[in-house]
Amino acid sequence: MLQVYADNAATTKISATALNAMMPAFETYYGNPSSLHSVGQDAKELLEDARGRLAKCLGCEAREIYFTSGGSEADNQAILSAAKMGEKKGKKHIISTAFEHHAVLHVLQKLEKEGFEVTYLDVKTNHNITPLDVKNALRPDTCLVTVMYANNEIGSVLPIAEIGAICKEAGVPFHTDGVQAVGHLAIDVKKENIDMLSLSGHKFHGPKGVGALYCRRGLPLTNLIDGGAQERGKRAGTENLPAICGMVAALEESLAHLEENSAKVTSLRDKLIAGLSQIPHCALNGDAINRLPGNVSFCFEGIEGESLLLLLDMKGVQASSGSACTSGSLDPSHVLLAIGRVHDVAHGSLRLSLSEYNTEEEIDHILTVVPEVVSYLRSISPVWRDLQTGKRTFVL
Ligand SMILES: *Cc1c(COP(=O)(O)O)cnc(C)c1O
Repeated sequence: MLQVYADNAATTKISATALNAMMPAFETYYGNPSSLHSVGQDAKELLEDARGRLAKCLGCEAREIYFTSGGSEADNQAILSAAKMGEKKGKKHIISTAFEHHAVLHVLQKLEKEGFEVTYLDVKTNHNITPLDVKNALRPDTCLVTVMYANNEIGSVLPIAEIGAICKEAGVPFHTDGVQAVGHLAIDVKKENIDMLSLSGHKFHGPKGVGALYCRRGLPLTNLIDGGAQERGKRAGTENLPAICGMVAALEESLAHLEENSAKVTSLRDKLIAGLSQIPHCALNGDAINRLPGNVSFCFEGIEGESLLLLLDMKGVQASSGSACTSGSLDPSHVLLAIGRVHDVAHGSLRLSLSEYNTEEEIDHILTVVPEVVSYLRSISPVWRDLQTGKRTFVL
């Protein structure tokens, strides 16, 4: 049976280029970059080469790159650093959005318990925010604006360059969780006035457990991990050199083919969106225009997302639903609630996230299988029966 991996927003398959780039760091450059002997210094050279190449991919300087264990760590460090700096100046207000990743939201919630005030910008209109929303939320005591570059569940791409200009003018540090955008969209942190950006290797065909934080020179970072003096003293621990090499190779490869990949994936996405829109009582989630090339997200009335995923997996389609979070909680996704989906509808969600490895044939397979499974689940759903008999009213 055809197997269709359509969960690339969760993680991607490593590319052959990235895998090959890791091998020398295991076999030849196995030294500790902090060692003073030649084996260590050779590893150090490879590490600094990778840093320089990553900086080039983002449009910043090598010394503005800090390697981390992934996107979550980079998000935590960026936000906590800005909060600490704000606190010193008596500024304890942060602007963010209601649909951030948990790696941002949970840090903000922790800061709220410590007396910070957070404005979560509403995302109901167009499932996005506007630069004006940010401008209007700014206060004299705002110490950080942190808004994601692109949403991982519903694919909305935010107006980052415009927000960057507003923050620069106001003199407020601007962090963006760029994990879904890096390797998929053209990014230039300087042109877009981004002060801090988080990225993660495994979202663009690199290895898992490695990421980076870009932090503009002059912005002080606070350590999450204390110990040795690695990463200019801001992140202790022997560098994961094989993973760093794999990540940078994956990013260079993605950017070298950005236009063709984006065109291909966008066309697959649009075919999928057009086909799935034919299913009765469904709605597209996310910004219809400013949207990640690979994101397809729908809510279907009268079904459970979990059942949909299991049946789709049995038919060879690996997808995701916003409704079940990893903790096993039955609460619907905070992202779907934030865009205004009611609980019942939010439970019937489906996210298909594509990459350049997907094919037209795979899209056709999804377009055959999803309508079948949705019809079947509705045929056995008590909620769907109530909708049919008028005991409940359709929302979509
Ligand atoms: C995956 C993801 C993260 C977390 O990255 P990890 O490297 O898995 O820690 C953070 N933010 C967004 C938007 C993501 O998609």
